[in-house]
Amino acid sequence: MVLEGLGQSLRGVLNKIAKASTIDEPLVKEVSRDIQRALLQADVNVQLVLDLTKEVERRALKEKPPAGMTLREHVIKIIYEELVKILGHPRQLPLTKQTILMVGLYGQGKTTQAGKLGRYLHKRGLKVGLIAADVHRPAAYEQLMQIGEKVGVPVFGIPGEKDAAKIVAEGIRHFHGADVKIIDTSGRHALEADLIAEIRRVAEEARADERILVLDASVGQQAGPQAQAFHDAVGVTSVILTKMDGSAKGGGALSAVSRTQASIVFIGTGEHLEDLETFNPERFISRLLGMGDIQSLLEKAKETMTEEQAMETTKKIMSGRFTLKEMYEQMEMVSNMGPLKKLLSMIPGFGVPGIQDKINVEETQRRLAIFRVIMDSMTEEEMEDPKVIKSSRVARIARGAGVDPKEVRALLHQYNTSKKAVKGLMGNRKLRRQMMKQLESGELGGAQ
Ligand code: GDP
Repeated sequence: MVLEGLGQSLRGVLNKIAKASTIDEPLVKEVSRDIQRALLQADVNVQLVLDLTKEVERRALKEKPPAGMTLREHVIKIIYEELVKILGHPRQLPLTKQTILMVGLYGQGKTTQAGKLGRYLHKRGLKVGLIAADVHRPAAYEQLMQIGEKVGVPVFGIPGEKDAAKIVAEGIRHFHGADVKIIDTSGRHALEADLIAEIRRVAEEARADERILVLDASVGQQAGPQAQAFHDAVGVTSVILTKMDGSAKGGGALSAVSRTQASIVFIGTGEHLEDLETFNPERFISRLLGMGDIQSLLEKAKETMTEEQAMETTKKIMSGRFTLKEMYEQMEMVSNMGPLKKLLSMIPGFGVPGIQDKINVEETQRRLAIFRVIMDSMTEEEMEDPKVIKSSRVARIARGAGVDPKEVRALLHQYNTSKKAVKGLMGNRKLRRQMMKQLESGELGGAQ
């Protein structure tokens, strides 16, 4: 795994939080120091590390966890969010017709990434052509030819030609029928004036949609100024950080590039042509921290109702109790997409119409907001036994809630429909048994 050392340390931090008897200030401070150590070892900029851990401490000690989430889980969520933040905004290379110009210094992996990218796009159904416009390195043309052959993408080049812009012009003509043209350009040992002049000429000729900078991650934090310098020269649209597989400094390169105007779109994770991964800050951090746990935690954060509450409501309904309160709670569960979603979606006609096919969260939430106001104007007796609500009461409730009597009747209508559906369900012994079994086994307990 990329940045294995950092991942291990961070997972150790989460473990410490999970095992701690209480989440208090000394623990938060200790965890904060552990995170500092882990990030500094991965070469992340000192100031960035200090800012991040300060923010983790501030939020962990001040923010209240959202309903349904423990303080422990909330602190983990904060750490996750702050780590994601230092990796910048996600960007994906569009899978469309385009011209891509690859730029970068010598030895960074430019030619190899041109091939990897060609393979990546070719695999996704696009017709790709590679153009060999590195006119300085003698073997560059052959290297690209070999790579093209391996990934099944045609290569255009003019061996011996020294005018890169000319190769680009002819290459683009040659590949006029292709969806994507990828141009490999010359590198230098440093960003020198003649390199910039050449890239500019090539860029003018290519009029590329994407100008991708290829950067070796082992340069660490230096990746930041390099990305900025290339950006100033040619307007870099994306960055590929290579050699993430072998570098402990990857954390430095990732965070430094993310602070420039360029977005990292891929990381190179090995010498083979399939070793290219799309880069997404959230996914990257999730993986470092141990994906599954974080995912379910975040799911949970979206829920305002705890699992136990949801279970309680469902059990009440299953035992035959179904007043307006249960209907409301049940709709709330559905709109929260809680862990019992699967169970609820098995109930015919439950909640909003068509719910068993597709849970329309927005519509449910809109209705819930209206229902909430209406129910606030009802008496306890009316909530428990909606049959007592005759038309004079409908008018009173509507006035109290500031809604049209139609809305109150719609609520009652929904209640009657759902009640009938529940009754039908209770009559369906097989389905009922199946649901009870699932409830008892806790099979529905996991977040989905
Ligand atoms: P260029 O001079 O920028 O075109 O660099 P090359 O594409 O020739 O790559 C330089 C060296 O880096 C080659 O030996 C590649 O195999 C190696 N390389 C490229 N990408 C990666 C990567 O993601 N991981 C590792 N470990 N090596 C890579």
